[in-house]
Order: sequence, then C-alpha cells, then structure tokens
Amino acid sequence: MYKCIDCQAEFEEPDMERECMGEYHGQPAYEYRAICPLCGSYDFEEVTDGD
Ligand SMILES: [Zn+2]
Repeated sequence: MYKCIDCQAEFEEPDMERECMGEYHGQPAYEYRAICPLCGSYDFEEVTDGD
C-alpha cells in the first residue's frame, strides 16, 4: 500500500511514467518512474497496515 503525500490517496501499486532521458548510443533512452495514479505526483510513500 502506498499513500500519496500530495493528494492523500492510497493505492496498491503506483503508475509508471516513461520519461525520456535523452539518447544513449544513438537510441532514445527512457527511464520509468513511479507516480501516483491519481494526481501524477512523485511524492508518495509506502505505508503498512501495521497488522
Ligand atoms: Zn496523488
């Protein structure tokens, strides 16, 4: 479980956003970043139920 710091939403898995990092050996290089599926923020943290 994750919780977004920006919008306070809780979600099981973050969305992945593909970000172009320029070129690498003539090929476009991409990096995947985890984002909040609701607001697209990078600022979220993993939370546990505490059991
Ligand atoms: Zn959010």
